[in-house]
This record gives sequence, C-alpha cells and structure tokens, in this order.
Amino acid sequence: MKNRIVLSMLFLTRLLAACGGGGGGTTTPAPVSFCSTQAFTDPAQSPYVVPWNVGASYTMFQGNCSSLGGHRDTFAYDFDLAMGDPVLASRVGEVIFVNDEFSDDDHIEGHENNVFIEHDDDTVIRYTHLMQGSAAVVVGQNVIQGSFLGLAGNSGNSAGPHLHFQAFKDRSSFDKRNSIPITFVNAIGQVAASGALVEGIEYLADTF
Ligand SMILES: [Zn+2]
Repeated sequence: MKNRIVLSMLFLTRLLAACGGGGGGTTTPAPVSFCSTQAFTDPAQSPYVVPWNVGASYTMFQGNCSSLGGHRDTFAYDFDLAMGDPVLASRVGEVIFVNDEFSDDDHIEGHENNVFIEHDDDTVIRYTHLMQGSAAVVVGQNVIQGSFLGLAGNSGNSAGPHLHFQAFKDRSSFDKRNSIPITFVNAIGQVAASGALVEGIEYLADTF
C-alpha cells in the first residue's frame, strides 16, 4: 500500500498540462528537430487502435506538434468525444495510474482525470480529461485492446469535452519531449504520408 501511495505521488508530480495553452509561457522554445526527426510507424503494422467503439467516428481536432497551445512540441491527439462517451484501451497493457476525482467544469490545470496504461515495450499512453468518477479500471489491472477504461469528460485544463490521447516512450517522464508519434491500425479516414492522423478529419473505428 505504501508503495502504491509513493507511486501515485510520483505521477502527480510528473503530470503536466495536457491540452491547454495557459502554462509554460516562459519556457525555452523546443528545437525544431524534436518533432521533425521522429518517425511514425506504418499504420498497417501499428499495435494501436483508436480508443473508441468499433463503428463509431470521431474527429481529431488538435494534432501533433501544433504551433500553439498544449500540443506545442509534443505528440498528442485530441479527439472530439462527447461528455460520457466510452474511452477504450488502444493497446493491451497494465494500468499504472488512475485518478478521477476532479470536477468536469473547473478548467484548472492539473485537475485532469486520467488513466495511464503501460505496454510490454515500456511505452505508456495517457487518456486524459475523463469524466469525474468514471474510471472503470484500477492500478495493476491488465487490460486488453478495447477494454473499457472510463468516460470522456472535461476535467482539468480543457475548453470542452474531448479526449486527450498521448503516448510516451516510457514511464521515466511524462514531459512533452518524452512523447512519441504513433499511428492506428484501424482508423478509416485520410492520414498523412507519415501515417499520422490529420487535424479536422473524422476517423471511423474499423474492426480489429
Ligand atoms: Zn490535448
């Protein structure tokens, strides 16, 4: 129990702003090379599926390495899930952090509700802005691809309900620069030449 509390505290100190543009205004600009030198994997070989029900479609409205806001110099996707829409595991793994105590309407940075899942290659995905009280998994639980994790919400630094989805190289840091670019094996819709999803495009979740 003690170890779990320590782990939770470590996570809380590592959690950074997800989507908002409010924080970090005085940080040094990232080298252009961070985003430009990272390679996406071929979607056909991707171990990831889009994190919603097969047959459902959502628009990716803020993508990787935006020039402004919380996605600046980082790899992350914002999907337009509505309040209460199911959020599913993108890949098989183990739940390593859960919190769902924060309100859906206080818009305070650091008040995001999250599920973090670690995969067998040490990568981690965060599912963020979940609805208060909606987490359906616990730390230590193993999930399969498509497992129900919780409900989309508007917690933390968020202008409206959506899902912030971000992959990291490993659990050593959840800083922007430890993020990694990923593709999806079952996203039906236009993708960039790199395989990345494109802002403003709606993606239908195919069977997998
Ligand atoms: Zn975001």
